[in-house]
Amino acid sequence: MNSSFLYHGWGLYSQKCTRVEYKGNTIILHVETKERLSFCPQCGMRHLVKNGYRTRDFIGLPLGGKKVIVRMKVQRYQCKDCGYDQQENIPFATGSRSYTHRFARYVVDLLKMATLKDVASLLCVGWDMVKDIHSSYLQRHYSPPSLQGVEIIGIDEFARIRCNT
Ligand SMILES: [Zn+2]
Repeated sequence: MNSSFLYHGWGLYSQKCTRVEYKGNTIILHVETKERLSFCPQCGMRHLVKNGYRTRDFIGLPLGGKKVIVRMKVQRYQCKDCGYDQQENIPFATGSRSYTHRFARYVVDLLKMATLKDVASLLCVGWDMVKDIHSSYLQRHYSPPSLQGVEIIGIDEFARIRCNT
């Protein structure tokens, strides 16, 4: 599959698609990172070797009414100099979550006009996943700001508004 289509469709800019699989109502995109990591992220040396990989599935934006799974070969690297031993970074998803950033954004957009149950049914995912995405969004955008480390709060000016009815 064309890299440009991967980027514009699913936001995968540093991956390449090695195979596309069609299973019922699901399209599975097999991807892996285009460029091998050549420098150790910890010490900067070049003695970095591949140390196995694991495959992870992420739900991506649907295509033509079909569910899309991004199946990524996540490479693990080990540094011979400093002992660094970690999996490569996955730029299109957060932590251990099983969906892409773009999918989460799409869910939030759909929730502006449909219920959790409707969105889950439309996207063929569990209600709990939709709820998790919505909760994260609400927490990120509407939780009170942290006041940790704040010692003084100043008020510049204020206004009193009186409404006569
Ligand atoms: Zn290192």
